[in-house]
This record gives sequence, C-alpha cells and structure tokens, in this order.
Amino acid sequence: ERLLTADLSPDDLEVERTLRPQRLEDYCGQSHIKRSLRILIEAARHRGECLDHVMFSGPPGLGKTTLATVLANELGAQIKTTSGPAIERTGDLAAILTNLQPGDVLFIDEIHRLNRSVEEVLYPAMEDFALDIVIGKGPAARSIRLEIPRFTLVGATTRSGMLTGPLRDRFGISFRLDYYAIDDLAAIVERSARILGVDIDADSAHEIASRSRGTPRLANRLLKRVRDYAQVRGGGSIDLSISQESLTFFEIDELGLDWMDLRILETLARTFRGRAVGLSTLASAVGEDPATLADVYEPYLLQCGLMVRTPQGRQATPAAFDHLGCDRVSAKES
Ligand code: ADP
Repeated sequence: ERLLTADLSPDDLEVERTLRPQRLEDYCGQSHIKRSLRILIEAARHRGECLDHVMFSGPPGLGKTTLATVLANELGAQIKTTSGPAIERTGDLAAILTNLQPGDVLFIDEIHRLNRSVEEVLYPAMEDFALDIVIGKGPAARSIRLEIPRFTLVGATTRSGMLTGPLRDRFGISFRLDYYAIDDLAAIVERSARILGVDIDADSAHEIASRSRGTPRLANRLLKRVRDYAQVRGGGSIDLSISQESLTFFEIDELGLDWMDLRILETLARTFRGRAVGLSTLASAVGEDPATLADVYEPYLLQCGLMVRTPQGRQATPAAFDHLGCDRVSAKES
C-alpha cells in the first residue's frame, strides 16, 4: 500500500475526525482564502442572509472538506454532506433539498461527478431556491414549482476543468486551494501532535512537513507513522534523528518521493537517458497503468520540476538528474 497517496484511506477517517479543524482560527495556511471568507461570512451574518454558493477546487487532501465544515461552523449553520457519485437519481437530490432547514450548508464533494439530469435539478435550486417537478406523462404532463429553504451550496472538486459552464456560473464565490508552504504544514504537524498527545520538536515537525508533498492529509499520515516508529524504536518522543530514521525506514526521501516516484525518474533518466518518452511506453517500463501514472504520480513530479511534459513526451529535467545523483552528460552518451 502506498503511504504517500493523498486519497482518503479507511485508516485516515478516524484520525481526520479528531484532527480536522473546526474554526477558521485553527485552519492553518491558505491565508488569502481565510481573509476573504472572514469578510464574506461577517457580511452574510450582518445581513442575516445565506452566504452565496461557494466552490472549492484543488488536489485531494488540501482541506476542501475541512473548509466546508469550518464555513458552516462560522456561519452557525448545520452541514449536510454528500457527494457527486452518491446522488444517482434526480429524486435523490430532490429528497436532500426538501429536507434542508433554512440556512443549512449543503456540501457536495466531487461535484464534477454529478450526472447531467441531477445537475439540471440543481440549477433552479441554486438560483431560485425552487424545485421543478414534472407530474404526469406525455401531453398531459405539467410542471409545478416547489419552494425549498434558502441554503448555501458548497461544492468541492479535484477536477475544476470537468465542471460544466452552467454549474460553474452558479457559484458566486470560488476558491482554488494551493499546495501548502512547508512552514504552514509544520504548524499543522505541531497542532496534530498536540491533539494526539505526541511530544515533537520544531525541527522534526519541519522535517515531516518537508516530506509531505504540500498536503495536510499526508503530513498527518506521516506524523502517525513517525509516532509509531518512535514508540517502538525510541522513547516515544519525536526528535530529528528519530524522524529522519523513520522516514528513511518508510522509504520517503527528502523531497517526499517514494520508491515508485524514484523508479519513474530513474527510468526517465537512466533507461531512456533523458529522452522524451510517451506515456504508455513509460507506464509499461515502470509496470504501472498509464492512467494511474498520469493522475497519481505525475502531478507531484511535475510540480517539483523533476519532470516535464513536452509534445514529444515525458522527460526528466536537470533537477531530476541532480536529485538522483546521476550525470546528465554520461547518461546521454552512454
Ligand atoms: P480534501 O477535502 O481537500 O480532500 P480534507 O479537508 O479532507 O481534504 O483534509 C484532509 C485532512 O487534512 C483533514 O482531516 C485535516 O485534518 C487536515 N487539514 C486539511 N487542511 C488543513 C488546514 N488548513 N489546517 C489544519 N489541518 C488541515
């Protein structure tokens, strides 16, 4: 099992329940989003109105669900949570909408995965707080409009490019979450360690943060693994040497690359000697499915500048050769 995938594992669920910040002041980083949200929340509360619909987009594990919860708490509203794939039929959505209380926050995760007919029910709900229901069939069919309580829809997506135009346009507020700076991740690690009752020094929090690929979910996961290691191999407290030793033990290097990332880079740099390679060729060379390679592994390698995608294919960058300690000239010549 891969430790550094940002997807939610069953093991994360329990820990996320305890570590998830509940208020804006506990939410570390993303300061431009927090600043704007504070003003928007304050204004909505002042007017006694619902907040406009909000969209959060960005890679998994960066805190979109957390922000939705924080938003509801700050608004003093209840949150109802569902996801795009969970709403299969229009009736499912109608049931959710008619059960809302005035002022509720409805959170739809992976909103880009809503099917078209369900999405069309959402449009009048978002715009006019109404549900159009068709009664009867054929020429006798007629449509009636039901009012539903005013609510705030919070959507989250990892694929903003897959949203349809009409849906995207109905969100008055939209934020894109970025990967976190190391200092912000270190603050998250220290906060989580306090909640878990783990003794950790600042250098170790920084060490874990710098190997967490800019992602809070991974920072928390690495913290738990390092804690386990410290309990078994050390005295329980986490210091720099125990954190470095344990992260090496779990095969996560200083940039947060694991063995599969390194294998991809080694293949590009050594086997293909720095030449551009097509996705399917690279995938079969490393023994991975092309879609998984493109969706799971490549984004971080691209983000770190270790790999580039050119019209000719994937290519290792000079930074990749440096990181691998591999000589670029001799790799090309050999
Ligand atoms: P997403 O919905 O984007 O996949 P989540 O909101 O589920 O991500 O975040 C994953 C976990 O990371 C949360 O349970 C929380 O513990 C932690 N986390 C995310 N963002 C922050 C943050 N800004 N500050 C502190 N912890 C965070």
